[in-house]
Amino acid sequence: MTACQRYLRTLELARSGTKLNLRQIEILLTPPDRECEKQLFDAALKLKRELLGNLVNLRGLIEFSNICSRDCFYCGIRRSNPKVARYTMSEDKILHSAALASEFGYGAVVLQSGERSDRKFTEQVTDLIKKINALPNPPAITLSCGEQSLATYRQWVNAGAKRYLLRIESSSPELFSAIHPSSASFTARKAALRRLRKAGFQTGTGVMIGLPGQTLHHLAKDIKFFRDMDVDMIGMGPFLPQEDTPMGDAANDPETIRRRFDWSLRMIAVTRLVLKDVNIASTTALQALDPENGREKGLLAGANVIMPNVGDVEYRKDYQLYNGKPALDENGEAIRKQLLDSLRRIGETPRWNSSGDPIHFIKRTGGDEKI
Ligand code: SAH
Repeated sequence: MTACQRYLRTLELARSGTKLNLRQIEILLTPPDRECEKQLFDAALKLKRELLGNLVNLRGLIEFSNICSRDCFYCGIRRSNPKVARYTMSEDKILHSAALASEFGYGAVVLQSGERSDRKFTEQVTDLIKKINALPNPPAITLSCGEQSLATYRQWVNAGAKRYLLRIESSSPELFSAIHPSSASFTARKAALRRLRKAGFQTGTGVMIGLPGQTLHHLAKDIKFFRDMDVDMIGMGPFLPQEDTPMGDAANDPETIRRRFDWSLRMIAVTRLVLKDVNIASTTALQALDPENGREKGLLAGANVIMPNVGDVEYRKDYQLYNGKPALDENGEAIRKQLLDSLRRIGETPRWNSSGDPIHFIKRTGGDEKI
C-alpha cells in the first residue's frame, strides 16, 4: 500500500464519522504529498457543504480600540510597544460602523480590542452592546476583548452580546508560556474560556499556526483541545512576525512562510472533519500571506466565516497585530466588493442578513437546526 493509500484510509475514517484519536488527527495533518492534501481539502469542503451548505457567514469587523494591558510577545499592539498610536473609536463611529455592517447585509459584527478590565472599559462595552442592539435592524454581536471575570461576561450577555472569541493561542502549556510573559497563564486563559460558556456565549477559540518550535503534533493536540472544550467556533491563522515585538525576528524565510500557510489550510480542513458543525473562520492572517487567494483557499478547505473590516480606515494602520495586514487603506465598501467577487469566483454564496449562529451551538442548546 502506498503512503497516500494509507493516508486515505484515515481520511475515510474521519469521513465516516469515527471519533479520531490524537495519532489519527496528526496523520490527517500530515498528508504525504500534494495529491493527498488535495483530497483532504476536498473532503472537508464536501462535509462543510453537506452540513452547512455553500453559504459563507459574514461578520463586519470593528477594531474599536488598540489600548492593551497585556504584553504578549507576538502581538503588535502589546502594551510595551511604544510605536503604536493608541486610540479608542468614539461611540458614534463604532455605531456608524455597526450600522454600515447591517446595511451591507452582514448580519453580525465582531467588536475586537486590546484587553482591559477596568470598569470604565467594561461599562463602555456594555453601553455599546445596548446601543448597537437599539439600531434598526441590529447585527448580532460577537466580542473579542480578552479575559474577563464571569460577572463581566454575564453583564455583556445580558446587554445582548451573543458570541465571544478567545483564542487559547496554543493548547500546549509550554508553547503558551514561551510566547507570553509570566503574567499570562495558560490555566487562566482556559478558565476564561469555560466562563464564557457558563455565561451563555456561543464560544470560539483558536490558535496561531507556525509558531517557533510548534510541530504538527502540537497542532493535533490543539484540535483535540477544541473538541474536548466543545467550542462552537474556531478562528485560527498563521503566526506572522511583527517587527516591533520580541518575536519580530522569528524565522520568516519563504519556506517558513509557505509552511505556515499550508499548515493553516490543513488545520482548517482537519478541524472541519473532526468538529464537523462548528463555524470556522477563514482569517485575515491567511489573506495577509496570500492577498489574492488566501481567504478563498481557507473557504475551500472547509471554513465558513469571513470577517471583512467595516471600521474607519483612519484606525486601520494603528491596529497591526502583525506585519502585512491587508486592506490597510480600503474602506468597507471596497472590501465588500472584492469579497463578493471572490466568493462568486469560488462558488460560495454570502449568507445575507443572517446572524449566522453556529449549528453546533443550536444543537447543544437544544434548538432547531435549519440552515
Ligand atoms: N485582545 C483580544 C483579542 C485581540 S488580538 C484577546 O486577548 O483575545 C486577536 C488575535 O490576533 C489574537 O488572539 C492572536 O491569536 C492574533 N494575533 C496577534 N498577534 C499576531 C501575530 N503576530 N500573528 C498572527 N496572529 C496574531
